[in-house]
Amino acid sequence: MRIDLHIHTSPRSSCSYLGLSELVQEAKRLKLGGICLTEHQVVWTSEEAANLAEKGDIKVFRGNEFTTNQGDILVFGFEKDIKELLTIQELHAEVRKDNGFMIAAHPFRGFKTFGIGQLQMTVEQACRRKVFEFVDAIEIGNGKLTDDENDMACKVAEKLGLPGTGGSDAHRVDEVGRWVTVFENDIRTEQELLEELRAGRFTAAKEG
Ligand SMILES: [Zn+2]
Ligand SMILES: [Zn+2]
Repeated sequence: MRIDLHIHTSPRSSCSYLGLSELVQEAKRLKLGGICLTEHQVVWTSEEAANLAEKGDIKVFRGNEFTTNQGDILVFGFEKDIKELLTIQELHAEVRKDNGFMIAAHPFRGFKTFGIGQLQMTVEQACRRKVFEFVDAIEIGNGKLTDDENDMACKVAEKLGLPGTGGSDAHRVDEVGRWVTVFENDIRTEQELLEELRAGRFTAAKEG
């Protein structure tokens, strides 16, 4: 079952131009098994998601993308409304209380333009980034990143033995589904999504 695990919609994510109805339409055209709404620092209510699922006749899951001092973190199974920026330690402590799941989003975004690439950061060095001590998985396929950036995340995930997810990080309709997470099992509920995430029964796939 293919789910785009990282999507921003308008107006909940102010940086997004992606409307709900065009998202649903596009997801169906791509025959995605489900979509996951991961706005910045805000999580949809389960009622809102259920309404959208019913209206659009598609499975809708919810996450939340938190900005921390160690980069952006996709969080699942955690509904607390936190607006202020937390450190990775603070976020981790909060999410653990609710037994949620944390994914390092686009961990190497821009690593070449920052010049680190010229210094030839090795995979071993990349693995030492603090963020990886606190996450359950790493986004190894992000639709907004270059192949080099995703490749580094993939190598780091392999080396650390962490599972790798895929998501488009779509902010526009033509970006939806560029990367997806392919789950081994069919997923009907958010509880099942969490179970499958925790069990690591998935891979990332580039589609766009
Ligand atoms: Zn982000
Ligand atoms: Zn994002």
